[in-house]
Amino acid sequence: MSTKERTFIAVKPDGVMRGLVGTIIARFEQRGFKLVALKLVHAEPAFLEKHYADLKGKPFFPGLIKYMSSGPIAAMVWEGLDAVKTGRAMLGATNPLASAPGTIRGDFALVVGRNICHGSDAVESAEKEIKLWFPEGVVQYTHALTEWVNEV
Ligand code: UDP
Ligand code: MG
Repeated sequence: MSTKERTFIAVKPDGVMRGLVGTIIARFEQRGFKLVALKLVHAEPAFLEKHYADLKGKPFFPGLIKYMSSGPIAAMVWEGLDAVKTGRAMLGATNPLASAPGTIRGDFALVVGRNICHGSDAVESAEKEIKLWFPEGVVQYTHALTEWVNEV
């Protein structure tokens, strides 16, 4: 568990279209995470197939690629203590019907095929996803809140 751990978080096209980008960013900021990369991308199906390579062959895969390429995605990288696991906890369960209220999916979504956000599921997949979405790298800086959020 490192304060430098990074996770890839994305607001999916339905989240962007519904105007939830700011709300989702605010939750990560308020929790104490540091934003180190951010961009809006209308991704091509071939690119999304790389992002979701592990799911190729699943019955929902074609629909997932169509959904994810249907509009812009707000792609970001957040850094902080236990960012991957905590990020997943903040998103909620994959199926929003099983997501606890207070989580992003539990507050803003109903169905698995429109679950508004993505978060890396492990440190290794976070590293892969960050390289894929941000080949240019992330931004290094010292956040003003670092010493108040962490026990440093
Ligand atoms: N998905 C779907 N139907 C399913 C399972 C997953 O449409 O039965 C979609 C859903 O949008 C999910 C994404 O595929 O977020 C990736 O699935 P994964 O199992 O990796 O869930 P996640 O990591 O996003 O919680
Ligand atoms: Mg996943």
